[in-house]
Amino acid sequence: MTIIPENTEKPRIRILDPATVNQIAAGEVVERPASVVKELVENAIDAGAGSVTVSLTATKDTIGSIRVTDDGCGMSPADAELAFVPHATSKIRTLEDLNRVLTLGFRGEALATIAAVSRVTLVTKPRGSGAVPGTRIVIEGGNVLETAGTGAPDGTSILVENLFFNTPARKKFQKSKNTELAHIHDILEGICLSHPAVAFHLTYNGTEQLVTDRTTRPLDTIARLFGSEVIRDLVPVDASLPFLSITGFVSRPSLARKDRARMIVSVNQRFISSPAINDAIKAGYGTLLPKDRFPVAFLNLAIDTMLVDVNVHPAKKQIRLSREKEITEMVRASVQDALLARDLIPAAGHPAAMVPLVHEPPAAPVQSYDLSPPAAPAGVFECTHAGTASTDQRLRQTELAVDTEPTYLVSSLLPEIEVIGEFSGIYILARTPDNELLLIDQHAAHERILYEQVTGQTKESRPSQELINPVVLHRTPKEAAILNDLLPALALEGFVLEGFGGDAFLVRAVPVVLGRVEETTIIDEIISDLVSEEAAQAVSNRERITRIVACRGAVKAGTVCTREQCQRIVDQLRRMKNPFTCPHGRPTMIRFTRKELDTMFRRI
Ligand code: ADP
Ligand code: MG
Repeated sequence: MTIIPENTEKPRIRILDPATVNQIAAGEVVERPASVVKELVENAIDAGAGSVTVSLTATKDTIGSIRVTDDGCGMSPADAELAFVPHATSKIRTLEDLNRVLTLGFRGEALATIAAVSRVTLVTKPRGSGAVPGTRIVIEGGNVLETAGTGAPDGTSILVENLFFNTPARKKFQKSKNTELAHIHDILEGICLSHPAVAFHLTYNGTEQLVTDRTTRPLDTIARLFGSEVIRDLVPVDASLPFLSITGFVSRPSLARKDRARMIVSVNQRFISSPAINDAIKAGYGTLLPKDRFPVAFLNLAIDTMLVDVNVHPAKKQIRLSREKEITEMVRASVQDALLARDLIPAAGHPAAMVPLVHEPPAAPVQSYDLSPPAAPAGVFECTHAGTASTDQRLRQTELAVDTEPTYLVSSLLPEIEVIGEFSGIYILARTPDNELLLIDQHAAHERILYEQVTGQTKESRPSQELINPVVLHRTPKEAAILNDLLPALALEGFVLEGFGGDAFLVRAVPVVLGRVEETTIIDEIISDLVSEEAAQAVSNRERITRIVACRGAVKAGTVCTREQCQRIVDQLRRMKNPFTCPHGRPTMIRFTRKELDTMFRRI
């Protein structure tokens, strides 16, 4: 390799010709067919269209052509030619304009780059231009092949064919036709939801794929896209600060999914992807969802444009937010507010109520925290443990809790519940005044009660009680190392442990909520849970310890309770902020209406 050129007279550095520049840039703006759809549809919206039609054709294994037609403002003959020049835009003039930009486009790149890597046919006519004719321009690989006047309806129609014909490397990386179609659907859904006032049509080889009408009610759009059953499980979100407003809908926990694909967020009517906002939405569910389940959410954020930087990436899918902490906290709080104060009991037969929650297998062998007991459906989280603290003692422990703030005792999210009986030492059978049958998971319910008591305590550190006989625990070296790291967090939770030489620990005190611990095994079990669960969990150590304490302190599954004891559990559950799920996100109860039962028995 020659580093020093032989002929130093001749400069080695060359300015790339515009066609090459465009092809390089095209890689960023136009990555795949879905990017073409996105850019063209966004242009149509910016042009003030009331109706936008996307028509796709496909050959055996690729998308053949994309046509986007709108009834927007259209372009004059002069503008139509300028539109394909790189960095030509009607949307901003100066850098300052970028701070206020409300249009979806502003970089003046899309048409130039699309035309650089495909064959584009534009037909456009300015709205209400009367005698002025329309314009037809054909460009292929950046070369203008034809410019002519033509008769045309008001608005713009752009046909894109032979995408990536001159960039073989890009073409080779295209995924299957169906993958591309899925991407196009995702993008269009996001755009439809952020622009309910525009009607959208998507056809594929002539058949209709997706249709929305112009509406002022975002719920109509959601129903058109995802079916009207989804609506039933949505609750409205509505919150505002001086620089921010959040509107939209989030799902009841019962509609949760395994992926984040249906968390659809727009900022200032721009469909974006923001992991930070998605995390905030999920955080709003708190313990209503297991850690590996994600809600359905359709949120529109209106944020002061000065706080939003949309110019992060050419595809404009990412944004940068100033005051991101405040904004995400507001998202979390607004989702939480929307969900609190709702009846979230899943109905029997609801698909989500039937789906077993999947938990990853634990990293280390677990003796007592059995994640898949043979009796339960595969994957259902179930705690089995052997303590001897009697049920009454455990119940009294939660009934007598004095350190809990009683602010939310005023009204219950649950109806009056009258216990009818119990089944298998696991389920409580109960009825509501509306003649609904409730099946309540006794352990999950009591676990929830303990959890809220512990987390509702006002003091920073939880009260602990000394053991009359301190317990010595022996751990493996690896577990001892984990445990050593956890000692401060454990102390805050009321566990007083100290090193006892080698890999042994002395337990001097335990949290009061565990009641009078007579058996040392329960302490051993809690510590085993703690050191064996995968460390890389989304929740903090403190939260993890609290959940384990709640699980271990609660009335065990399999303990047959008297009706009076069951009633005490239910009465306590009714006072909870979130009586619907255990701290791991499993439902505490499932509801059967009379009508559902009658249907099952074919009485109606
Ligand atoms: P940008 O959208 O960033 O301005 P584009 O390359 O996407 O850049 O478009 C260039 C210009 O062409 C736009 O600024 C707009 O004036 C015009 N234009 C593009 N598409 C349309 C359309 N569908 N209707 C009317 N004008 C359009
Ligand atoms: Mg554009």
